[in-house]
Amino acid sequence: AAQNGQSTVHFFDPQTQENASARALLERNIKAGLAMSEFVLYYQPQVEKSNFIGAEVLLRWRHGEVFVSPDKFISTAEQSNLILPLGNWVLHQACKQLAQWAERSETAHLTLSVNISPKQFKHAQFVDTVVQAIANTGAPARQLIIELTESMLFEDIDSAIARISALRAHGVGFSLDDFGMGYSSLSDLQRLPLTELKIDRSFIRDIQHNAHDARMVRSIISLGHSMGLQVIAEGVETQAQIDYLIDSGCMRWQGYFIGKPQPIAHLEQLMQEHITF
Ligand code: C2E
Ligand code: CA
Ligand code: CA
Ligand code: CA
Repeated sequence: AAQNGQSTVHFFDPQTQENASARALLERNIKAGLAMSEFVLYYQPQVEKSNFIGAEVLLRWRHGEVFVSPDKFISTAEQSNLILPLGNWVLHQACKQLAQWAERSETAHLTLSVNISPKQFKHAQFVDTVVQAIANTGAPARQLIIELTESMLFEDIDSAIARISALRAHGVGFSLDDFGMGYSSLSDLQRLPLTELKIDRSFIRDIQHNAHDARMVRSIISLGHSMGLQVIAEGVETQAQIDYLIDSGCMRWQGYFIGKPQPIAHLEQLMQEHITF
């Protein structure tokens, strides 16, 4: 078994992935992994001050003995189009979870944020796929948030606006993930019917020691709020970061300080322990 584990680790070495035959093998393994239910969703809690408001859905691959992180397989899945069935599976699972939460008053308010890759978003069937996931599962559309990144929006902003608007009409929310990396022009940003900005972890990390990052975070928060958007910070690991966010007017965050990405049962237990009656 040890030997098996070792070869698996070697197999997912990013440098090995450069190699075409290794990539082809990874593709076959992803396909087989989908068929054999090796993929699992982890949920990272999101809070508004001390209240749980939802979670970000993060994909994990249980391949043999090891949990493979998305950094090791998402880009290969994206290049090979396997991201389409994989991403569809993620969306359906998340919607099923929302439908389940909707049945209980204690959990009905919770949202789930789902990461969508460029290829999924640009696919002609994107809007239909999301609408179908909602319809097939009975998920409350208002509790679903789709996370997009800046680079996938601005090369064809008109079609991005059309896609987002079509799903906003159903109630689906849209978050701009990793925000602050500097791709967006202000006027383009204002045209997009988003509901949330998510401040990138790289700005949160050194908030206490780096005056530039601290100012940047404060600017993003006021920009977001002035546009009527929710603002959430990712990668929050310390109380001092939380204090700075609160002082800057941002009341929503996620990060290891609150909870790592975790199986659904753990998340539900964590939330249960914190519910105050
Ligand atoms: P992301 O969307 O920016 O997700 C946040 C990443 O930061 C996650 O890594 C999460 O585990 C990690 N993280 C959360 N809180 C903290 C913290 O306090 N400190 C630190 N150091 N890290 C924190 P993860 O789960 O490995 O995911 C990596 C990336 O893979 C994600 O970045 C996302 O771009 C992609 N990804 C994950 N799941 C999916 C999916 O279902 N579909 C697609 N298309 N991409 C996914
Ligand atoms: Ca994300
Ligand atoms: Ca992010
Ligand atoms: Ca990030």
